[in-house]
Amino acid sequence: MTGATRVLVLNSGSSSVKYQLIDMADGARLGSGLVERIGGGEVPDHTAALDLVAEQLAANGTGLDSPALAAVGHRVVHGGTRFTAPTLITDEVLQAVRELVPLAPLHNPANITGIETTRKLRPDLPQVAVFDTAFHATLPESAARYAIDTATADRYSVRRYGFHGTSHQYVSRRAAQLLGKSPESVNVIVLHLGNGASAAAVAGGVCVDTSMGLTPLEGLVMGTRSGDLDPAVLLHLHRVGGLSVDEIDDLLNRRSGLAGLCGDNDMREVTRRLDQGDPQAKLAFDIYVHRLRKYVGGYYAVLGRVDAVVFTAGVGENAVPVRAAAMAGLEALGIELDPARNSARSREPRLVSREGSRVAVAVVPTDEELEIARQTFSLVSDLG
Ligand code: ADP
Repeated sequence: MTGATRVLVLNSGSSSVKYQLIDMADGARLGSGLVERIGGGEVPDHTAALDLVAEQLAANGTGLDSPALAAVGHRVVHGGTRFTAPTLITDEVLQAVRELVPLAPLHNPANITGIETTRKLRPDLPQVAVFDTAFHATLPESAARYAIDTATADRYSVRRYGFHGTSHQYVSRRAAQLLGKSPESVNVIVLHLGNGASAAAVAGGVCVDTSMGLTPLEGLVMGTRSGDLDPAVLLHLHRVGGLSVDEIDDLLNRRSGLAGLCGDNDMREVTRRLDQGDPQAKLAFDIYVHRLRKYVGGYYAVLGRVDAVVFTAGVGENAVPVRAAAMAGLEALGIELDPARNSARSREPRLVSREGSRVAVAVVPTDEELEIARQTFSLVSDLG
């Protein structure tokens, strides 16, 4: 290495590109930004979006040509069963990520374009893919497999991959730190509740179960996604309702969850309406919390011993009533929330359980960008 300590983290989504420039020497954020509405008039495609990112960085005096830049870390949504760790991007790796497109048709193509464009701009710069699925590669077969015909499942790569892995990894490790323990010595349940939402059971730093599956549709009730349902619902909607596959896809991914139940996908709005006595919002909130509690109970049993339940992401970090309702009445499980701590506003990792609660309840703000930067930098430093 040549003393280059900066990592550019790129998150190329289907219609936006988010970036952060982080100096790993001291963790300083040297720049961040967002290019939105890709596909619209001003930003026709991802190449144009990446050009804009490069321009913004250059205007900030931290251009892509800076010798201080050590690497680019790309968030890549689906790594399949092949990618279980951060990976230096080569032609061969890029091809393998392309082959995974059928498993993540919305996400992987955008990630690939982000990688290709950055490689064109700086061909000599190491680029690293950090996969959203990687942290879940440790799921035992008992948790990863669906109970369907094995040959059919294998032919179509049907299994539970899990997502939000970078967040679950960061948050579970940070929670151990908050408890003053090593990650290897604690069992935690992480509840990543953003617009998308997932739970993870992490035993001694190793993920043993998670609520998202083949795609990010399984599991918890989300902003616009249904989460778990009887798979026969799809058959029924198709056979009896005459809905096409694309219509069902749209229903379950975009017109379900909180939005489908009460018209609002934003938890701030749902709880505001709840406070005003809106019955639809109350039902949506209750269904959301009921599902969450089922996962907490389920993962408690999976882990056997739980040291902490950890809330993160937009809803988990901010929605006091969601945490209160999710943890209510669980004293027999050793979970005792402290109402005053739960209501206190903070951006710091913190305990919100009572002193002496056998199971700690914590809020740990997630930082996927920092985790991607850390994994990227660690990989290129080892190469160096
Ligand atoms: P994403 O999943 O898109 O990365 P975030 O983790 O930022 O999103 O979470 C976004 C969601 O967090 C919003 O849709 C909203 O429901 C919720 N949220 C953000 N701030 C608050 C708040 N103060 N109170 C309740 N919910 C909030």
